[in-house]
Amino acid sequence: MRKTDLIKFKKIFEEQRNQLLMNTAFIDEGLMVREDDKDEVDQANADIEQSMRMQLKNRESFTLRSVNEALKRIDEGSYGECENCNDPIELRRLQARPTATLCIACKEEEEKQNASAILGHKFQYVH
Ligand SMILES: [Zn+2]
Repeated sequence: MRKTDLIKFKKIFEEQRNQLLMNTAFIDEGLMVREDDKDEVDQANADIEQSMRMQLKNRESFTLRSVNEALKRIDEGSYGECENCNDPIELRRLQARPTATLCIACKEEEEKQNASAILGHKFQYVH
């Protein structure tokens, strides 16, 4: 990968990481709010909100982990290489999905295997 592209991706990831850290801090703040004098309806709503926040937080943490791993790969010089076949991942693919770790061919192969695993499971289920 060209150095200019690499720098561009690094910048994208750093900005994304800052944004994610800000979001998770904001979600944490919401999670810590506790009010004791709530009636049941309030409490139910608060519980729903709490679980939505948890889901959101899990998703944010997952993305943050991918971003951190991508930044690590940039530092190690392995960013943009397919984890499976070590071929360079298509630049177009990285532009669409910067945290991708598999090239299109390997990704398609993986999806095919997942699909047949699911199908195989269904077959067993039917029998
Ligand atoms: Zn590959």
